[in-house]
Amino acid sequence: MHATRSLADRIKAVRERIARAEIRYGRAPGSVQLVAVSKTVAVETIANACRECGQTRFGENYLQEALPKITAALLQECALEWHFIGPLQSNKTQGVAAHFSWVHSVDRLGIAQRLSAQRPPHLPPLNICIQVNISREPGKSGVDLDHLAELATAVAALPQLRLRGLMAIPAPCHEFEQQRLPFHALREAYEYLRSQGVALDTLSMGMSEDFEAAIAEGATLVRIGRGVFGDRG
Ligand SMILES: *Cc1c(COP(=O)(O)O)cnc(C)c1O
Repeated sequence: MHATRSLADRIKAVRERIARAEIRYGRAPGSVQLVAVSKTVAVETIANACRECGQTRFGENYLQEALPKITAALLQECALEWHFIGPLQSNKTQGVAAHFSWVHSVDRLGIAQRLSAQRPPHLPPLNICIQVNISREPGKSGVDLDHLAELATAVAALPQLRLRGLMAIPAPCHEFEQQRLPFHALREAYEYLRSQGVALDTLSMGMSEDFEAAIAEGATLVRIGRGVFGDRG
């Protein structure tokens, strides 16, 4: 997109777009937080995002790629908050439970039970978003809307987890009003669960191509990779 711009310029531009969208859609200033998606991004670049721009929230998709970054000496002074956003297999839950603060991609109870059991007791509860297959795409990650309430209730009862909200990755679409529809549906599911007494405060929705539509529909966390770091090589 803007490969020649500096990292600091891109982060500033993304933050300005978030702030403008908050104003345009009647959202409270500062109510939308940026998770910078750093898959394929080098540790040095993550360190620069932190030092030059104060960026502290980062998202990673793969445990094997994330672990050396999370434990890198260069990043220890930064006090970063790591968000696991990729598909999660049961053989990866232990590493995720030990090294991340958030998991956005829980879509079945077995995974949540493992994360709770494996969360080290000296750490605060792991923050969880349930991923919803909001566009009802066959074979895609995410729980069906029909089974969401049951899963949310069960996850909320697990001791070492703190259920925070919902996450979705809608089918790609380029028209703004069309982009809003699945985000609106996720927001309705979120409001429904809250009306049923499930304490939620997070809607993780919106990526580089659609985050303004997500903010219009109530996103509180946007997960942006290419918009922050440039196109992945
Ligand atoms: C890669 C990824 C993102 C960021 O995508 P961009 O298009 O680079 O902004 C957000 N969420 C998830 C789950 C991802 O895998």
